[in-house]
Amino acid sequence: MDLESVRSEVERVIVSEADLQKRLQEIARTIESDYRDKDLLLIGVLKGAVMAMADLARYLNRHVEMDWMAVSSYGSGTKSSGVVRILKDLDKDITGRNVLIVEDIVDTGLTLDWMRTNLESRGAQSVEIFTVLRKPESAMVKVDVKYVGFDIPKDFVIGYGLDFNEKYRNLPFIGVLAKHMYE
Ligand code: IMP
Repeated sequence: MDLESVRSEVERVIVSEADLQKRLQEIARTIESDYRDKDLLLIGVLKGAVMAMADLARYLNRHVEMDWMAVSSYGSGTKSSGVVRILKDLDKDITGRNVLIVEDIVDTGLTLDWMRTNLESRGAQSVEIFTVLRKPESAMVKVDVKYVGFDIPKDFVIGYGLDFNEKYRNLPFIGVLAKHMYE
């Protein structure tokens, strides 16, 4: 879906499609070099990471495997609490594997902090994180994220997998949702 189709719903574009794809290609080159001679298992966090997984995996000029987890963060109201429930678990055992979590956005960091601890406890050889976006001002816990696409302000963003009420995931860019859509 293009910008024209949602012009009045998007306040501004903060990461264009071209910038996103360029950055993913750069990160793919770094990952190729960091994981040279190692196996690589990409674990996508549903549903937000679907676009990033599809693009990043195709930019990687090497073998990768892909698995998926779906989690829900429970909290009071809309706030993330760090209490995470697994809605869909991995299909395969990850003992001894080099795992790279593929995530759409790190907001408070609570979900990823929990995920990393959970995956490490299953005996993975290494667990690292790739995220398309990070909101440094929103961090509640410090999560060591090895690969970050873009640091952004704490506005609510949509597109490229990120949703508002399940919509906008199919935009190829990242935009700030217009205030009149939720206020
Ligand atoms: P965290 O535990 O606060 O880091 O939660 C991260 C999750 O919150 C992400 O995987 C998204 O699903 C959601 N999220 C956080 N910020 C945004 C946003 O700006 N737009 C859409 N979803 C968001």
